[in-house]
Amino acid sequence: MHVVIIGSSAAGLSALEAFRRRDNSSPVTVVSAEAGRPYSRVLLPYYLRGRILHEGLFIRPEDCYERLDARTVFGEFVERVDAEEREVILRDGRAIAYDRLLVAAGSRPSAPPIEGLEGPGVQGFWTLDDAARLDRDLRPGVRLMVLGAGFVALQAAWAAHRRGAAVTVVELEGRILPRVLDEEAARLLRRRIEAVGVQIATSVCIAGVERACGELCCTAAGADTYEADIVIVATGVLPNDGLLAEAVSTRGPGLEVAATMETAVADVFAAGDVARAPMWGGAAGVLALWPVAVAQGRVAGANLAGAGLDYEGGLSANVTEMFGVTVASVGRFEQAPGEDAVILYDLPGVDYLKLVVAEGVPKGAVYLGGQQAVRLLGRLVPYIRYCRPLDDPRAFFEERRLAGMASVTPWLAPAADLDTANGSIACAS
Ligand SMILES: Cc1cc2nc3c(=O)[nH]c(=O)nc-3n(C[C@H](O)[C@H](O)[C@H](O)COP(=O)(O)OP(=O)(O)OC[C@H]3O[C@@H](n4cnc5c(N)ncnc54)[C@H](O)[C@@H]3O)c2cc1C
Repeated sequence: MHVVIIGSSAAGLSALEAFRRRDNSSPVTVVSAEAGRPYSRVLLPYYLRGRILHEGLFIRPEDCYERLDARTVFGEFVERVDAEEREVILRDGRAIAYDRLLVAAGSRPSAPPIEGLEGPGVQGFWTLDDAARLDRDLRPGVRLMVLGAGFVALQAAWAAHRRGAAVTVVELEGRILPRVLDEEAARLLRRRIEAVGVQIATSVCIAGVERACGELCCTAAGADTYEADIVIVATGVLPNDGLLAEAVSTRGPGLEVAATMETAVADVFAAGDVARAPMWGGAAGVLALWPVAVAQGRVAGANLAGAGLDYEGGLSANVTEMFGVTVASVGRFEQAPGEDAVILYDLPGVDYLKLVVAEGVPKGAVYLGGQQAVRLLGRLVPYIRYCRPLDDPRAFFEERRLAGMASVTPWLAPAADLDTANGSIACAS
């Protein structure tokens, strides 16, 4: 049986390792557009702001594919999968035959339709190459405009600010981190970001970008203009699902998979940012998060070897450190009708903690504060996932806080393995 894996990041690598734990004789080929040693995208902002060294980005040794007895076809772009012929077709026309295939091709930054956006001075912040370019160009005094105010955008903004750049964040929606924080947490974080000198403009729609003498002039729909030397586009991501059109979900972007991570196409699996997979609570969706990709990859890899495992469903969980504060959310943090919000402002080391509760059962939380977020919210995850009631939320958090907090957040430590290379609290659950 020849197994082909497209992608060599969180999902692809965890799948390969899970496969090899069960089958160490079948030939495996890993195809990846990016060449080289596997690295953590999550750590790129930490690298850019000097928190970790270049070496610390890598999550496996140079010879890891050799050790896993996998052939690599790196620096090659898969154009499409021919499911009928059971072949992966590369951009240069070459074909690689498979018996079982895993698509772990991740996602790509999605650029809004702005006239003049493509071209010199404008880039994403998604790959090691993007980070290397920014490492070269982000010098003190450089004017940076960040399009978008999500997690990746604000991490880029903070790293650039730390490097002495003059940073402006421009967001179409009315607040920062609209999919990660509730309104109050977003307001508190914005105040903090502006206090250090980063400009934030919300409800602004950039309509066009013009270039003159190496300078970029971005014009908003209301005629305001923003001048910049570099623009980072961080307005969201789209799954790289185009290479297997017949498995794209009819319900939205992503390759539709069952709990086994199988697509509807025979012997083809998908995992990670490219997959539309079962989520906690019953629905299906794309959760573009590192630990989700690792977990899905593990199930897919085991099932490529015939293990028959089911993925238990992803739970949205984000945590990162930016502008000197840990910002986190887990589950559903906006209350539905009939649900309560418990807000705790005054726990030691916590700036803001909101818990959404339905009949005593936590549904999700938002957090701003010190580094104990990983442990506090990590302990909450099983209560959310398995619908366990919390008798007294304040006592729960106070008690947990005292129960010996980690002195460093685990994802800041040099990335020894896939789990410590992520920025999520899911691993702490
Ligand atoms: C700056 C940044 C910060 C982040 N911070 C966090 C965080 O704090 N917490 C968190 O949980 N997540 C975070 N993420 C998201 C996280 O990195 C992704 O969810 C994760 O990388 C998804 O893993 P994946 O294996 O599915 O896809 P990817 O990591 O995108 O890897 C896709 C792989 O497929 C290959 N590929 C793609 N298309 C093709 C093709 N056509 N042919 C051949 N190969 C192809 C690529 O080369 C790559 O090897 C962050 C991402 C970035 C960029």
